[in-house]
Amino acid sequence: MIRFTDLHSVNVRFDKEFSEAYANFLASGSYILGEEVTTFESNFANYCDTKYCIGTANGLDALTLIFKAYIELGALKKGDEVIVPANTYIASILAIVHAGLNPVLVEPNEDSFNLNPTKIEDATTWKTRAVLAVHLYGQLANMQAIKKIANTHNLLLIEDAAQAHGAIDSEGIKAGNFGDAAGFSFYPSKNLGALGDGGCVTTNNQELANMVRKLGNYGTVSKYVNEVKGYNSRLDEIQAMFLNIKLPFLDSDNNRRLEIAKQYVSGIASNKIQLPKFSEKGNHVFHQFVVRVENRDDFVDYLNKNDVETIIHYPIPPHKQNALEEFSYLKLPITERIHKTVVSLPLYPTMTNQDIQTVIQLLNAY
Ligand SMILES: *Cc1c(COP(=O)(O)O)cnc(C)c1O
Repeated sequence: MIRFTDLHSVNVRFDKEFSEAYANFLASGSYILGEEVTTFESNFANYCDTKYCIGTANGLDALTLIFKAYIELGALKKGDEVIVPANTYIASILAIVHAGLNPVLVEPNEDSFNLNPTKIEDATTWKTRAVLAVHLYGQLANMQAIKKIANTHNLLLIEDAAQAHGAIDSEGIKAGNFGDAAGFSFYPSKNLGALGDGGCVTTNNQELANMVRKLGNYGTVSKYVNEVKGYNSRLDEIQAMFLNIKLPFLDSDNNRRLEIAKQYVSGIASNKIQLPKFSEKGNHVFHQFVVRVENRDDFVDYLNKNDVETIIHYPIPPHKQNALEEFSYLKLPITERIHKTVVSLPLYPTMTNQDIQTVIQLLNAY
C-alpha cells in the first residue's frame, strides 16, 4: 500500500529531539506563551525575513485575526470587499466572512490554480479594500503582478501562506513577506507541521502585529488589562516546541518534495494525465502534487485497486458548499472544471524512491 502521506514517518525522525525537549518543557512549568512560543516567533520571522511573527491557535484564526485587526485599526470596515480565488480551500473564504467582510470570488489561472491578475482587475470596485492571495498547493501566486494591482487600487494585500512555507521567488522573497500580512497553518500535514493545531501571522507592520497579538490573547495589553474584545487564539507552547525542532529541516524537506515532483514529471508519460506546470526556482514547495484527468472516478479507482492512495483537493468548490450557499448562484466554470478533474498524488518528504517509481509505472500503465 502506498499511502497518500505518512505523518508518522515524517515525525519519528525527530523522536529523540522531541523527547529531550519534552523533559525541559515539563520542567519549565510554563505551558502557555512560554519560551518555546517566543523562540518560535523569532525563528519563523527570521526564516520568512519579516519583522514580526505572532503565533495563533491555527491557520484559520491567523487569517481571521489579520482581518479583524485591520478592522480594529480602522483600515477595513464591515462590508468591505475582499478578492479571493474561488478555488481555494474554504478556510480562506471563512476568514473573510468571520471578520464581517464580503468575499468576492474570482476565477483562477487554469495553469497555476492561482489568482489571475486580470480577473482581480475586473473584480475591483469602489468597495474593494483587500486581496487575499492564496499560494495554492505550495506554488506562489503571481505576487509581482498582484502587488502592482493592489498598489494601484490602494488595496491591502494579504497572503494565505498555509500551504507554502518556504516558497521563494526569483528575487529571494519568501511566502509570508510579499504583502501587508500573511497567515500560516501548522496543521500536521502542512510543509511545516506541528503535532496538533497551530498557526501564525507574519507581517512587517508593527501596529498590525501588536493588534493581532492583542486580539489573540483576550485583548490583553498587560496582565488582566483588556483593551479590545479579544479571542483566545494562542500558539500552544508544546506545538511551538515541536516546530522549533522541525523548522531547521523545512528547506531540506521542501527540496525533497521538489525532487519527488521532478521524478513524477520526468517519469509520467501519459496523455491522459495533465501534469502541474512550475518553474524549478523554488517558487513551488509541492504541498500537493496535483494532476488533472478526465473521468476522475475511474482514475482514482484504478489507483485504489493497485494500492495507491490519492486525495482530491478539493472535491466541492467553496461556492457549491452548503456552508456558503449565498454564493451558489455564481457561475465559475474554470473553478468548477478544476474541482471536477484534480487529483493529488502521494508526495511527502520521507516517501521512498521505490514508491515513487511504483506510482509512475502504474500511471504509465493507466
Ligand atoms: C490548511 C489551510 C488553512 C487553514 O489552516 P488550519 O490550521 O487548518 O486552520 C487555510 N488556508 C489554506 C489554503 C489551507 O490549506
